[in-house]
Amino acid sequence: MKSVIIIGGGLGGLFCGAILAKEGLDVTVIEKNQTIGGGLQTFTRFGERFDTGMHTIVGMSPDGNIRKICDYLGITSKMQIREVDAHCCDRIYFADTHQWYEMANGRDGFVDSLARYFPDERDNLRRYVDAVFEMTSHVDVLNLRPSDGGVNLFAASEDFLLPADDFIAKYTGNHTLRSLLAYLSPLYGGKKGCTPAYIHAILTMLYIKGASRFVGGSDKFAELLAGVIRENGGDIITGDGVEWMDVNDRYVDCLKTESGLEFQADCYISAIHPFALFRIMPEKAFPPSYVKRVSSIPNTYSAFSLFVKLKPETFPYLNFSDYYLRKESDIWSFDQPDQWPVGLLLMTPPEENQQEYASKAIITVPMLFSEVERWAHTRVGHRGDDYQQWKQEKAEQVLQLAEEMHPGFRKCIDHVNTASPLTIRDYYGSRDGALYGFSKDCNNIALSQLPVVTKVRNLFLTGQCNNLHGFCGVPLTAINTCEAILGINSLIRKINPPEN
Ligand SMILES: Cc1cc2nc3c(=O)[nH]c(=O)nc-3n(C[C@H](O)[C@H](O)[C@H](O)COP(=O)(O)OP(=O)(O)OC[C@H]3O[C@@H](n4cnc5c(N)ncnc54)[C@H](O)[C@@H]3O)c2cc1C
Repeated sequence: MKSVIIIGGGLGGLFCGAILAKEGLDVTVIEKNQTIGGGLQTFTRFGERFDTGMHTIVGMSPDGNIRKICDYLGITSKMQIREVDAHCCDRIYFADTHQWYEMANGRDGFVDSLARYFPDERDNLRRYVDAVFEMTSHVDVLNLRPSDGGVNLFAASEDFLLPADDFIAKYTGNHTLRSLLAYLSPLYGGKKGCTPAYIHAILTMLYIKGASRFVGGSDKFAELLAGVIRENGGDIITGDGVEWMDVNDRYVDCLKTESGLEFQADCYISAIHPFALFRIMPEKAFPPSYVKRVSSIPNTYSAFSLFVKLKPETFPYLNFSDYYLRKESDIWSFDQPDQWPVGLLLMTPPEENQQEYASKAIITVPMLFSEVERWAHTRVGHRGDDYQQWKQEKAEQVLQLAEEMHPGFRKCIDHVNTASPLTIRDYYGSRDGALYGFSKDCNNIALSQLPVVTKVRNLFLTGQCNNLHGFCGVPLTAINTCEAILGINSLIRKINPPEN
């Protein structure tokens, strides 16, 4: 395979493009938006630049797996990131008990920080953290270890496929502590009795190892990946979505863009949501059973976001994220429309030369797409006055919680801009504005495993629907996808050479 066309210039498409261009393939990335980046996109309002879908990143600690991939691409030293506080990386507020909890990172730090509130649970906390690290040690790609391809979830340990809430319950009977151990649930769309323990364990392990933030905008990272593609002779086309793919005998012959351009390559990578892919392919391109199976996979919930410009020198820069939950027992239940908002995440993105005060805050509130269903047929900028009014009412509800968490917050606000599940759907092309693509269900794990190879011989998949989402998951799937083209373990051995 000498040439590759990548559909979608988001996190997954750009990582695949950068890796394959570096490995000598002739790469073309086609992105429907004017700007590359997908979840790495930023936008400017009221003179402030806001990240849209990448507020906190993991895997960038000194021995971090994503850092090693960035080292291999030669971009680590050009990245501008800031680590969050080691002693307080996240704060959680349970409104029903008016109680704040501070988490620290590092295995000992995490245990110590929670043992301050639950001294009798220290041993249980230690056993829980050990179990989390033990479980994640079995995932080859996460540890950048050669494998026989794919994650064998069934071989490692029976706990892998326990519901995450049951896994936590094995280690403590204290209900408040159980909720705290699950506090990252909105970062993976966690659901009680459904989310597999391994998803919970991977996210928890990576956060315990330490989280970071992009400084001055996540779009700079998209530009670094694009730079690797271009320096190695690749091309990136923006503002021209892929509209159709000609597929014959399970082989892609060519694809066409909205502006009428036609492209051909040896192989193609779809870095877009699989539902969006089905819309641009002939009905019979895949076996009907495959389309039926993939179409039946549920998506994670979406979100409503507030992008807040703050008045100068009024609100402190917080080098950690704040999590608000109305009721501590709701940690697995962000999908209750009648209880909205169940909880929120508030963070202040860092600037270059960040000083004591924050210039902006981003508040993300999980929300179901059904909330905006009545405007589903509308386009960005043309959704009508009733939609604008609905957004204002929702923003008001969210600000009440933010005020409860940080008394005086409202007085610090200069301007507020809002985004709904429709915004996420229309900017990323993700079905129903799903935050993290497909939902993973331990009761039907086969449904949650979408291989990167397809029955269409020269078409490969990548992106958050295949394995894990986000900055910790999508680059690892990009390795799987690229190795499906270049040869199993060919990249892993370069990225993480075995020590002599
Ligand atoms: C509000 C929000 C907050 C988030 N916060 C975090 C966070 O803090 N940390 C974290 O790690 N993850 C976070 N995530 C998740 C993260 O953004 C995603 O997991 C990640 O961006 C998914 O990468 P992807 O490549 O699969 O898709 P995307 O990055 O969404 O890229 C898909 C790209 O394909 C393009 N496209 C779609 N259709 C076509 C077409 N027909 N032709 C050409 N191009 C097309 C889209 O325009 C888009 O650019 C967040 C997500 C959201 C929505």
